[in-house]
This record gives sequence, structure tokens and C-alpha cells, in this order.
Amino acid sequence: MPVALVTGASRGIGAACARALAEAGYDVAVGYARDADGAAATAAAVEAAGRRASTHAADVADEAQAGAMVEAAEEALGPLDALVLNAGITRDGLAVRMSAEDWNAVIDTNLSGAFFTARPALRGMLRRRAGSIVAVSSVVGLTGNPGQANYAAAKAGLIGMVRALAREAGGRGVRVNAVAPGYIATDMTAELSDEQRAGLLASTPLGRLGTPEDVAGAVAFLCSPAAAFVTGAVLSVDGGLAMA
Ligand code: NAD
Repeated sequence: MPVALVTGASRGIGAACARALAEAGYDVAVGYARDADGAAATAAAVEAAGRRASTHAADVADEAQAGAMVEAAEEALGPLDALVLNAGITRDGLAVRMSAEDWNAVIDTNLSGAFFTARPALRGMLRRRAGSIVAVSSVVGLTGNPGQANYAAAKAGLIGMVRALAREAGGRGVRVNAVAPGYIATDMTAELSDEQRAGLLASTPLGRLGTPEDVAGAVAFLCSPAAAFVTGAVLSVDGGLAMA
């Protein structure tokens, strides 16, 4: 059976990706930062779909912890066929007032954390000449957003990283892609004001916020053989927001 590791899978988009990959036949390693109960719930959903699951606590911003998570996932379930780089945080604030701490925290988790997780997984995938990596970027990495200079930089950085890795790994049959979600109804976006929400809906052709499952479907597609000739791509999952 194919094996996937999803980071930040204790809730939200990551949990939905873990469930979608389980439905698609993957055994799933559930990465999480601190929420052991959330990770256990995701693992239970994977098992309810008839697949094996394992859970792995790691702060992806710490290179050693990210590496140990990949190693532990492969020990528990077998070599990784798919890796979803989903762990992410926000520390919003206007640039003129943003502290170095808030800048660094977002870059460390969202960008360096993805690299620290991808690299050890990639080594094995290159050896086996197979594998698919999907990074969860954001519409904000394409368009920018006031109050999110750190987050936009990290998410745009992920796109650059994905394209570099796609070029490095393509000759060995390893594919590397990104999804760029628009505004998805999760804990991360629960704090939007009614006014912000109305503004977003007005500029989203499909006229609704996305669901974690909307993103998970695109991620599962990019992991799957149906996307065998897709690499270095950035798939917008935003109801048309970036286009609008
Ligand atoms: P969420 O806050 O519900 O989940 C984030 C997950 O990342 C959690 O499981 C958390 O434990 C994990 N995480 C955070 N810091 C970590 C660390 N240092 N090490 C390991 N894990 C860590 O958020 P979400 O809305 O589900 O977002 C998931 C991803 O999708 C993020 O990368 C986010 O930037 C991206 N995204 C979200 C939206 C949205 O509208 N919700 C839009 C575009 C992109």
C-alpha cells in the first residue's frame, strides 16, 4: 500500500488531506506540533477508512525534529510515496510594526519547516525513483495581502522551492507541486470580521469560502498517478479569487 506523511494534520486542511489520502488508499503518517488529541482523531479517521496510521509530534521549524519525524514515519509505515507539506502559522501585522520575532516565526515554520521536512523525504524518493511532494502554499503567496508580509513571503518562497525541487528531482521520477488555497473555513480563518468575509465573497467567483475537503481533493489528485505528468505546478484552489 502507498504511504503518505502529512504535516500539520491534527486539524483543518492537513486533517482533511490525511482523510482524503486514506480514502485514496494510502496509509497515513499524521504529523502534528502539539495537539496529540487532534492527531489521534485524524489517525482514527484514517483507520476507519481501512488504512494504517501513525502519529508523530515534531516542530517542523527544528531541522532535527523534522528529520526525526520523517524517519519515524518511514519506520512505522514504510517508505514515503507522498509527502504533504501543510504545517503553517500566521503572525499578522502591518510591516512597519511587525516584530522580527513574528517575521522569523512564520518564515521558520512555513518555509524552512517545509524544506527541513522535504529534504530527508526527498533523499529516499530519489533513491527509489518515485514519489510526490505537495506543498500547501496560499493565494496570498501569489497576490500578497496587507498585514501578511511574513506569510506572503513564506508562501511565495514555497512556490520557488517547489519549482527548484521539481527541476532537481524530475529526472528521477519525483514530482513536486504546490496548491494555492484561497480562503478556507478553518480555525486559521475563523477570526475574519463579517466585513472581511463579505469582501472576500464578493471577489470570489464561486461565491463561498472553501472547505478543507476542497483543498484535500486537489492535494490527493497531485499525489496520485492521475497527475503523473504534472510537476512544478501551482494549482489554485480558491474559487477563482486569484483570477478575479
Ligand atoms: P490550522 O491552523 O487549522 O492548522 C495548521 C496545522 O499546522 C496544525 O495542525 C498545527 O499543529 C500545524 N503546525 C503549526 N505550526 C507547526 C510547527 N511548527 N510544526 C508542526 N506543525 C505545525 O490551519 P489550516 O487553515 O488548516 O492551514 C493549513 C495550511 O494551509 C497552512 O500552511 C496554511 O498556511 C495553509 N492555508 C490556509 C488557508 C486558509 O484559508 N485556512 C489558505 C491558504 C493556505
